[in-house]
Amino acid sequence: MSRVWCLALLACLAQSAHAEWVRRISDGIMGTRITVELWADDKDKGEHAIDAVLDEMRRIDESMSTYKPTSEVSQVNAKAADGPMPITKELFDLLTTAKEYSVLTGGAFDITYASVGYLYDFRKHVRPNEAQITNALPAVDYRHVLLDPKKRTVRFSQKGVRIDLGGIAKGYSVDCGIDVLKSLGITRAYVSAGGDSRIIGDRFGKPWMVGIRDPRKGADEVITRIPLVDAAISTSGDYERYFEEDGVRYHHIIDPHTGHSASKVRSATIIGPAAIRTDGLSKTAFVLGPDRAMEIYNRIDDIDAIIVKLDGTVIYSKGLEPAKPREPLKGPEPAH
Ligand code: ADP
Ligand code: MG
Repeated sequence: MSRVWCLALLACLAQSAHAEWVRRISDGIMGTRITVELWADDKDKGEHAIDAVLDEMRRIDESMSTYKPTSEVSQVNAKAADGPMPITKELFDLLTTAKEYSVLTGGAFDITYASVGYLYDFRKHVRPNEAQITNALPAVDYRHVLLDPKKRTVRFSQKGVRIDLGGIAKGYSVDCGIDVLKSLGITRAYVSAGGDSRIIGDRFGKPWMVGIRDPRKGADEVITRIPLVDAAISTSGDYERYFEEDGVRYHHIIDPHTGHSASKVRSATIIGPAAIRTDGLSKTAFVLGPDRAMEIYNRIDDIDAIIVKLDGTVIYSKGLEPAKPREPLKGPEPAH
């Protein structure tokens, strides 16, 4: 081997000796657990890329959280019933997407759920009584959120309307995290925030395996593992934020039509191209029930779904159904 080739090979080996998988789990941002795992040329570059993802998620949390009175969303909730309010392009685009999902799901996904939703505190086991729900319910309707694309403003058509992006913000932040990684040249990575994850690339010829948790068992018990490459996956579950009272489970997905917890399935998992989409669609099954939701999911070309029904049985969208056994091949008809 020539000297030049030897040097090139050595340089290559030296580089690949440092390349490695870097992984970090961080609790607290957006009130959830963030996991980032990526393949990096060297550990420092990998750690720097993870810092950048977490910074991006903190930035989104600062502007979208309804727990922070200074956030842009809290400002909208405080002022948008008084008249048109200019907002950032980022929030305007998110509100536009949220409305699209409301239309797509027949109103099952609705960020104005918060007009009633704010009366619940699942950590403190607080829930509204019937009179409070009846009072607040007229303010729940995505059509109350009026967007003017020319002036980039938002206005609420009546008082009492509140929005909360908890149903898409984590998915959105995962997509933003992936964009940050791509801009830093990372080509293999996994980013998750709570139940919303997205993957770029593979694991050197093998797919990433993402587990779907069994809703009635521990966090590590899965009903199945899905092999994924370049895809997003979101799971909503009635086990996430809930309390029980007199045998009734009150949890964090609200039926916009009744103001009560939407409890028609145990969990719903959506697989699709981006986490904002899979996040936005995973709540629908809780509100509409497995059959109506599956009808909608099957109509949307770029997603697949796995629903765990209340009796524990699992149903799959068309794209995931196991292939039916083929009819045995017939030979040519015998000549007579
Ligand atoms: P996670 O917050 O762990 O990602 P989900 O994706 O299941 O869990 O989203 C649940 C959140 O969605 C709730 O905490 C609430 O903020 C929001 N939400 C609840 N009901 C609705 C609804 N009908 N439409 C839109 N968002 C909702
Ligand atoms: Mg989510």
